[in-house]
Amino acid sequence: MKIHALLTGLISVKNAYVEGIARMRALRLAGSLLDSHFRLIPVYTWVIEHPEGVIVIDAGETAQAREPDFFPALQRPYWRTQFQFQVNPIDEIGVQLFRRGIDPKTVRTVILTHAHFDHTDGLYHFPNARVLISPREWRALRRWREWHFSFPEKWEQIVKPAVIQYRPERIGAFSESYPVTNAGDVWIVPTPGHTVGHQSVMLHADGVTYFFGGDTSFDQDSLYHNVIDAPTLNSHQALATRRQILETAAQMPLVYLTTHDFETERRLENRDVLRDDHPGLPMPSEPMFVV
Ligand SMILES: [Zn+2]
Repeated sequence: MKIHALLTGLISVKNAYVEGIARMRALRLAGSLLDSHFRLIPVYTWVIEHPEGVIVIDAGETAQAREPDFFPALQRPYWRTQFQFQVNPIDEIGVQLFRRGIDPKTVRTVILTHAHFDHTDGLYHFPNARVLISPREWRALRRWREWHFSFPEKWEQIVKPAVIQYRPERIGAFSESYPVTNAGDVWIVPTPGHTVGHQSVMLHADGVTYFFGGDTSFDQDSLYHNVIDAPTLNSHQALATRRQILETAAQMPLVYLTTHDFETERRLENRDVLRDDHPGLPMPSEPMFVV
């Protein structure tokens, strides 16, 4: 089974956006606003060439985000000063799939880890897919729209999300899950914290379990060291989710793949598994600075 990590572009963000300075979200976001230092983060998506059909996990960023009127007028000053998008049309997921011999119009399954812009802006490439989203994420998206860091007006005429219901079937440390394939090798598990309805995808293949974590942490080091990114909605919930991930890694060899980790591609290729002997288990240590 081929698994691809597709880089859909880079975003320049504030340092404090990646490494939040406090437990409270408002303080983390304020700290990010005031920070004057930027760093680049990648925006990865994943594609599983499964025998039952191609499965896409997150849709990535689009080049349209570089256009001045892409963002809602009221929010424009924020987006202009806080982010810089390095996305070219050839980086978009649709073009990258074509290059690998996959017509995005034939993709039937897209799984959203969550609805933030950098995971959903590329959805318009998939007019014929079921877009699997968690019930809580769907409710938050409908209620908050652009205040959920999401721009559904760019794609809601083209794709309609399919809201899933988790079942009480345990996988690793996760007590609920949703089966994606008949083969029983791809599962969605709830991983709330970064957003209220954030979810992750687990794939059993090649003698390991690939964990497609979206933004459960921005990178693997942040998981080990309990670093909370500024946009995370609920840091306590995010840390509890990370504990579940680490407990799962103690039960099975887990390859941890997240959206904004430059090491994602290498880790996928080498099947680098999470260590289960680090200080994060069983209780996480405190973030660097707690308010
Ligand atoms: Zn993200």
